[in-house]
Amino acid sequence: MLTPAEADVLIGQHLQCLPIESLPLAQCAGAVLRENIYAERDHPPFDRVAMDGVAIDSRAVEDGARTLRVQATQAAGDAPLSLRSPGDCIEVMTGAVLPAGCDCVIPVEDLQAQEGRVTLGAGARIGAWINVHRRGSDTRQGTLLVQAGSSLRAPEIAIAASAGMARIRVSSQPMLVVISTGNELVEPGEPLLDHQVRRSNTYGIVGSLREHGFQRVADDHIPDDPQALQDRLHFHLQTHDVLILSGGVSMGRFDLVPQALERLGVRTVFHKVAQRPGKPLWFGVAPSGAAVFGLPGNPVSTLVCFMRYVLPALRGSLGRSSVDPERLALGEAVTVQPPLTHFLPVRCQQDDWGRTWALPAPTNGSGDFTSLAATDGFVELPPGPNTYARGFVTRFFRWS
Ligand code: AMP
Ligand code: MG
Repeated sequence: MLTPAEADVLIGQHLQCLPIESLPLAQCAGAVLRENIYAERDHPPFDRVAMDGVAIDSRAVEDGARTLRVQATQAAGDAPLSLRSPGDCIEVMTGAVLPAGCDCVIPVEDLQAQEGRVTLGAGARIGAWINVHRRGSDTRQGTLLVQAGSSLRAPEIAIAASAGMARIRVSSQPMLVVISTGNELVEPGEPLLDHQVRRSNTYGIVGSLREHGFQRVADDHIPDDPQALQDRLHFHLQTHDVLILSGGVSMGRFDLVPQALERLGVRTVFHKVAQRPGKPLWFGVAPSGAAVFGLPGNPVSTLVCFMRYVLPALRGSLGRSSVDPERLALGEAVTVQPPLTHFLPVRCQQDDWGRTWALPAPTNGSGDFTSLAATDGFVELPPGPNTYARGFVTRFFRWS
């Protein structure tokens, strides 16, 4: 049976990198950048006044002048003025261009103003380029500011705007469909009988996809019926890039998903991974290139397999540069039984030194998802030892 790492490799080999689209900057939050962003100009683009105050020629003051005539006022956005006499100064605002002939800004707090003149306070710092943010001191024109593959968060979006980009090239959103299977499942809001179960897995998956910025997410339910499965899956394979199915991939007589997919030409890439929960995980690829994940239906298995395999794979297909996986130390020793990879729900807790520990919060089996509510995610315990000591550091997957 495959290890989780081997399953990752196979999924990565078969998930296509998504095409590029050009979007208005305001619609790019959370998207993955697919072009490099270069500085349009030097940054700052001119010698920038860094304090509200007066701009002076520092040499005049070094020669003894302490009271200066205010020649004019220059606000941010005004074209730069020129200092006419070294004994004068120009009132300036933060963000203004440093007036020609000036090399220093004395802030308002170090000035006394009276009748068109200012007197410099004893503590005023005088010298070349004090309180001036020099042109090009941050970055030069043409510098690579944000690299393709970056996620567009607040800083990257602000930088793109500063580079003058009204539209940027990002990965297009995949067409996703999340499908539940099972005759026992009933929608929230609908009446249900004692022997029926609420349809809950797909709500969790759709919610997580939306939370992670995926916008094109459809949702369907198919009963455990070979013909219905064949017809609906055929339709979804035509219209979606990735199918995420929950249920119907185990060994029961009504676990009909793999056969239905194979009849539609979807090639099994793997079935079963040496892990708990989630051993029956199925993955295949359609002739169209669409990827199909068959997640075991037990609610803990579904959520764990989704967060462990599907979400990282979808992010990879967006062209995002790989990010180091998050790791955490176990806050308590853990003992597990069979030699498989175990995924263990945990709660994060910070100690007095700011270190975060993963406190085990085991569920009552893979059907018990109600106890996941207060957890932060799960850790991956690789096969090997039966007992993992407190302090054992391993990969951590967050619910959000
Ligand atoms: P299966 O993988 O289809 O054998 O399902 C395993 C268990 O998970 C059964 O108890 C199902 O009722 C339950 N289950 C399957 N799909 C869902 C779902 N979408 N929401 C809640 N429970 C589910
Ligand atoms: Mg089922």
